Amino acid sequence: MTDLTNLGVAAIRDGVAAGDFTAVEVAEAFNANVAAAAALNAFIVTTPERAIEAAQATDARRAAGQPLGKMGGVPIGMKDLFATKGVQTTAASHILEGFVPEYESTVSQKLWDAGAGMLGKLNLDQFAMGSSNETSYFGNVISPWRRNDGGNAAMAPGGSSGGSSAAVSARLAPAATGTDTGGSIRQPAAFTGISGIKPTYGRCSRWGIVAFASSLDQAGPMARDVRDCAIMLEAMAGFDPKDATSLDLPVPAWEAGLSADMKGKKVGIPREYRMDGMDADVAASWDQGIAWLKDAGAEIVEISLPHTKYALPAYYIIAPAEASSNLARYDGVRYGLRDLPDGAGLQDMYAATRAAGFGPEVKRRILIGTYVLSAGFYDAYYTQAQKVRTLISHDYKNAFTECDVILAPTAPTAAFGLGEKSDDPLAMYLNDVFAVPASLAGLPAMSVPAGLNREGLPLGLQIVGRPFDEQGVLNAGLVIEQRAHFSAKPERWW
Ligand code: GLN
Repeated sequence: MTDLTNLGVAAIRDGVAAGDFTAVEVAEAFNANVAAAAALNAFIVTTPERAIEAAQATDARRAAGQPLGKMGGVPIGMKDLFATKGVQTTAASHILEGFVPEYESTVSQKLWDAGAGMLGKLNLDQFAMGSSNETSYFGNVISPWRRNDGGNAAMAPGGSSGGSSAAVSARLAPAATGTDTGGSIRQPAAFTGISGIKPTYGRCSRWGIVAFASSLDQAGPMARDVRDCAIMLEAMAGFDPKDATSLDLPVPAWEAGLSADMKGKKVGIPREYRMDGMDADVAASWDQGIAWLKDAGAEIVEISLPHTKYALPAYYIIAPAEASSNLARYDGVRYGLRDLPDGAGLQDMYAATRAAGFGPEVKRRILIGTYVLSAGFYDAYYTQAQKVRTLISHDYKNAFTECDVILAPTAPTAAFGLGEKSDDPLAMYLNDVFAVPASLAGLPAMSVPAGLNREGLPLGLQIVGRPFDEQGVLNAGLVIEQRAHFSAKPERWW
């Protein structure tokens, strides 16, 4: 029999429905890969029994002639930012260690309802703050990819959804959930040669997802290809009255709407993204992507997003501001860790719990956020950043009068080595430069693998679309996928 772990979402769903193999066989195969890959540290907790239970339910439904659901028989990895009832949910922090939710996040519940099963909870940057997975309390994820220089330097899987990207690219899961506040689906997808889409803000409910920056946080799928992303996003999306920012719109049939015909479509190339000293391989892959879209019938137009250079500083004010407020709830009273020194009062307990429970990057964000929201500085920083955010939205609005989708690199570089940027927060933040503008504007954005750089590491191309036009984004992604023929996968060393 073929190795079932080489199959993606569509192939598993269709194979189980056709009776080519059982859902239990699929779950067993992925459970075995997960168990053999402890060296990657992609999972914080594994739940092989949950994967098997869901698979048994799918096989029983098939035997009874009942419909199997969009994700019927597909085991997935769940980023450990989604609350899962009865399974520890930590956001990769010490402060939530041991927290076992009494409730299930809306998105994860929708996936289980669609027939998916859970392989485990995936590692991430602590509270999703980071771009390399090095801020996790549970140790960093190691990318399955290595440079082709014969060395075995450990590479970053990207972040914050680095457990998700590593697991999918190493064939530990056919797909995984991610969340994206300022690139955390797209950048790790690009670093590991997989696809991932952040839908329009509001498509996926935030209910039950540990909050980082609520006006930016969006869940989305990470999978092997565009079709698999479309299928999984259909299962994840939908109106939820429990999230006040949830979009009350029907979920389109994205999979059925897939088309690689770009005739009559205009693709915008933002001039401001062509930066001095740009990585030569990244620039070449962008040019190649432009040529592919042209070849598929698209008209290429140069566009301007004039406020691009202010996006990163604005993001690194707004996101920490919201984080400082969201993370105030971790006080030692309600969740996880409590540090109560002898004879201490309430204030001491708060301080001791937070000092012990949050990692350095999370503390840095809380401090920045508290500072920019403080009475004397609010207008100079936070209000200013909100104005910049509005200008960035206007940039996109103007651009979309001239084009249907925008093409750019996902990240300014391929994956970097673990430890290469971890002691320089600014260098790390700069890696998000192409990802945060679409987050600030709440737009759908996707990364698809476009090739390898000269070091043998994957490069991703990013497509950004109009609000609610996930279909346009997926379709342009499909064009790149079909022309890139990206089939490289990491050689197994773990
Ligand atoms: N790397 C960005 C940050 O550290 C984005 C993280 C995310 O999207 N969750 O904030």
